[in-house]
Amino acid sequence: MKYLSVKLLLFSFIVIATFAQADKTTDKLLPFEGKHIIDFHAHVAGLGFGNSGCFISDEMRNNFRFKFYLMAMGTSLKELERDGDQVVFKKISDAVAQSKVVDKTVILSLDGVINKDGELDKNLTQIYVPNEYVYTQTQRYPNLLYAASINPYRKDAIERLLQAKAQGAVLVKWIPSIMHIDPADPAIISFYKKMAELNIPLLTHTGMEKAFSHAKDELADPRRLALPLSLGVNVIAAHIATTGESDGEENFERILPMFKQYPNLYGDISSLTQINKLGYVKKVLAHPELEGRLIYGTDWPLQFFPLISPWYHLDEIKISEAFAISRMKNQWDRDVALKIGMGLNKDVFMQGNKLFGIAESP
Ligand SMILES: [Zn+2]
Repeated sequence: MKYLSVKLLLFSFIVIATFAQADKTTDKLLPFEGKHIIDFHAHVAGLGFGNSGCFISDEMRNNFRFKFYLMAMGTSLKELERDGDQVVFKKISDAVAQSKVVDKTVILSLDGVINKDGELDKNLTQIYVPNEYVYTQTQRYPNLLYAASINPYRKDAIERLLQAKAQGAVLVKWIPSIMHIDPADPAIISFYKKMAELNIPLLTHTGMEKAFSHAKDELADPRRLALPLSLGVNVIAAHIATTGESDGEENFERILPMFKQYPNLYGDISSLTQINKLGYVKKVLAHPELEGRLIYGTDWPLQFFPLISPWYHLDEIKISEAFAISRMKNQWDRDVALKIGMGLNKDVFMQGNKLFGIAESP
């Protein structure tokens, strides 16, 4: 009887000590006072329910990725049908509200492919998320910010840009490889000049695109961004070109010298912890020219297992940290914690607020 109580006491002590240790680890992985971080890279998608104006091509809908994306957004076809595409905004807002450290999230619109007449080509567009929809929905939630997407080949591209600015768009988002935009095309110089004049940054995908059923990867070569950079546009290279090759050279190697050449070039750290980008955080940390040039983003909803897990990174984080991160319920906290655990500096997470002058919640 006596032995049993001693054993029980010892056992309780070990359990308490383990939890205390885990809590300490959690604090270390989220070393921020209060909620100030802004996530500059989150996606929504929809099927047109609730008159959202969104669509997804049949090809994309029949793709294996579609089911995963619905799951990752925490929704289902049934729910979207019943409550409208808009339900996803509420889910994001609620989740961000519960994060210990992330204050706001920028929601990205996604324009489509534009035909020779300067109009949307519905047949070639894989995913379409209109500006008006994202604008209207983000106005309903104080912790969601609006990002426009404007294909510069639209005949009313400049008008749309002016409208986006007037509506408070934080940035303009492109995925050139699926929107069929050549960032180096001199035909879009006037669009770039207007962006620079309005001081609205361009967040554009660089590196290979794996999230869609097909992509023109040559358009995501970071060297093509020399044109907007030379015209004074603030460019954020999404994922810092961490996948794929152009002209037989790794895209990441191609972008590095550009940081020295163009002080208006930034990179976002979204999706850097994905299984197809193992080792890239280490590479990023090894390059001092990236200091002060990194912006925080999640690439939500692409944060689900098996795409991302702390257990893939045991060469860079401790087992106790992997445990602590796995225990975290909030996706945004998990993302921050993993990136901090992997060695990214605290300042990286506040860089975007400073750069783009976005006010934090009081
Ligand atoms: Zn993305």
